[in-house]
Amino acid sequence: MKDTSKHQGLRNQLAKVLQAKGINDENVLNAIRKIPRHLFIDSSFESHAYQDKAFPIAAEQTISQPYTVAFQSQILTILNGEKVLEIGTGSGYQTAVLLELKAEVYSIERQHELFKKTSLFLPKLGYKPKKFIFGDGYKGLPEKAPFDKIIVTAGAPFVPKPLLSQLKVGGKLLIPVGDKTQIMTLFIRKSAKEFEKHELGDFAFVPMLEKKN
Ligand code: SAH
Repeated sequence: MKDTSKHQGLRNQLAKVLQAKGINDENVLNAIRKIPRHLFIDSSFESHAYQDKAFPIAAEQTISQPYTVAFQSQILTILNGEKVLEIGTGSGYQTAVLLELKAEVYSIERQHELFKKTSLFLPKLGYKPKKFIFGDGYKGLPEKAPFDKIIVTAGAPFVPKPLLSQLKVGGKLLIPVGDKTQIMTLFIRKSAKEFEKHELGDFAFVPMLEKKN
């Protein structure tokens, strides 16, 4: 678990690449500059860690592309202490970004191997979500609802109703919707029954799957 000045230099470079692609939220850029992404992937692939690319992790899943993580984080406009539900813990990299943005994070992962690995690993780096949950994100987390923000980091074939209903009024759900590729879709809850919908471009995620595994 080594983090050197060389890694820091690569992170500063990565932040510049993301800035050039339109990320301008300084808090998000600072999180990218700070989090040692190379420790989130297998050490033999360390040299890939600071390229703006998705990369395979355990259990046939991927760590999202840094641009995608930064984009989702920026769109969510997270304020200090907001209650955030994350679906798809994966490597925990997005979780770490949310924690750097000072959110109170509940993170759900359906894949047991990843759930175990990441819930042990993240606290070692000092990143402590309110709770890691081994469960099915399609159901959300009704016992802790409502949430200020909900972020889904897997491609959802449809928008799960429980996620919309677990938002506070004024809250935001950010979810990539689609099969092969996904449209990043933002829902803002305007009232108990009204949601505003914004489509924010095409992305590619691993699929959101039902039930625990
Ligand atoms: N943010 C993560 C992305 C990992 S890929 C990272 O950057 O590392 C998406 C993750 O969502 C995978 O770990 C996958 O197992 C998980 N996932 C897929 N369907 C899910 C569901 N229904 N509930 C919870 N997690 C799910």
